Amino acid sequence: MSRILLLLAATTLSGQSRFDRLMRDILIFDAHIDTPRYVFDEGYRFADEHSYYELDIPRMRKGKLGAVMFGVYVQPQDYPEAAWAERAFEVVDAFHEEVRRSSKDMEVALTAADVERIHKSGKLAAMLSLEGGHIIKDSPALLRNFYRLGVRYMTLAHFQTNNWVDSMTGAARHNGINKLGREMISEMNRMGMMLDVSHISDKAVLDAVEFSRAPVIASHSSVKSIAPIPRNMPDDVIRAVSRRGGVICINFHAGYLNEAAHDVYIRNRPARDAEIKALLEKEKSNPKRWEMVRAIQKRYFEKMPKVPVKELLRHIDHIAKLAGPDHVGMGSDFDGISGMTPAGMEDVSKYPVIVRGLIDMGYSDTDIRKIMGGNLLRVLKAVEAAAIK
Ligand SMILES: [Zn+2]
Repeated sequence: MSRILLLLAATTLSGQSRFDRLMRDILIFDAHIDTPRYVFDEGYRFADEHSYYELDIPRMRKGKLGAVMFGVYVQPQDYPEAAWAERAFEVVDAFHEEVRRSSKDMEVALTAADVERIHKSGKLAAMLSLEGGHIIKDSPALLRNFYRLGVRYMTLAHFQTNNWVDSMTGAARHNGINKLGREMISEMNRMGMMLDVSHISDKAVLDAVEFSRAPVIASHSSVKSIAPIPRNMPDDVIRAVSRRGGVICINFHAGYLNEAAHDVYIRNRPARDAEIKALLEKEKSNPKRWEMVRAIQKRYFEKMPKVPVKELLRHIDHIAKLAGPDHVGMGSDFDGISGMTPAGMEDVSKYPVIVRGLIDMGYSDTDIRKIMGGNLLRVLKAVEAAAIK
């Protein structure tokens, strides 16, 4: 073998072993995955490997995903207001029951220390979050009850503005966050519940950062200066979150990573949603109806231009360069993005692709560990430390 070939072989080997070493014990911690509603609505099992949706235990194992903050959300238009909290409680219960049934592999985490302990034990850590302040219906009592059930962050608003915070995609009614919102934030700080500023208006994010005694997270937001779409975060807001120690966890939605993909998605969404609604009404008692919904979603997804993983890496790299590698994380939004994933990042088994990508982009092991989960864990610890028990 020539000298050059030997050298090449040695480089490949050390590259391989560096990746292997990292993958052996790295904590990959995703801030936002929406699987619990499928557990409740469809009897989805964490333990079985599926050819659809984006998370189950076998695929978590394959992708070395060690910890997840599972989202519980209630689309306000799908339920009467009086049923929002009840629906959320039912999904929270389904989550706990499913983790209990999967206790050989999975355990509920209530604290950052739990996440670390469960990860070291070889199990998967599952934490809960609530998406949308409307669910607590202006009630600190409901907020506290969700905390007692294990909810460790709340997204202050979802797609609509609620009674105390403006949504990025809703009416600007409060000039950010109003007095009631400020009280909610102070109660979240007191308990040690993280504030999630994804979905809320730019002014509301700045208010949240100002009002909160602890760092905040954006659990699933991408970069507006790369893909200028409403749900993404502008650079000055990213800087404001990071200056106070927060972390922005990148959303993998292909339409949030790439503006051309977003245009097609938005243009076709009304037709897609109408088709799904009509189907669910017609096939109300057909056990195959969820499969049929997924087929509709897939058909519309295929109309979108393909978005490669390198575009996802670009969003991560942008925040790491703008705010520093301490302020970016994973917030895939898997199982909340109707299958619209980047090509090569189809489900939770693919996280190692990001690790490889970051190695190739010149990131150090220390920074890769932070980006893949360490930063989110650090914020969770800071929020716990700021709590007043
Ligand atoms: Zn969301």
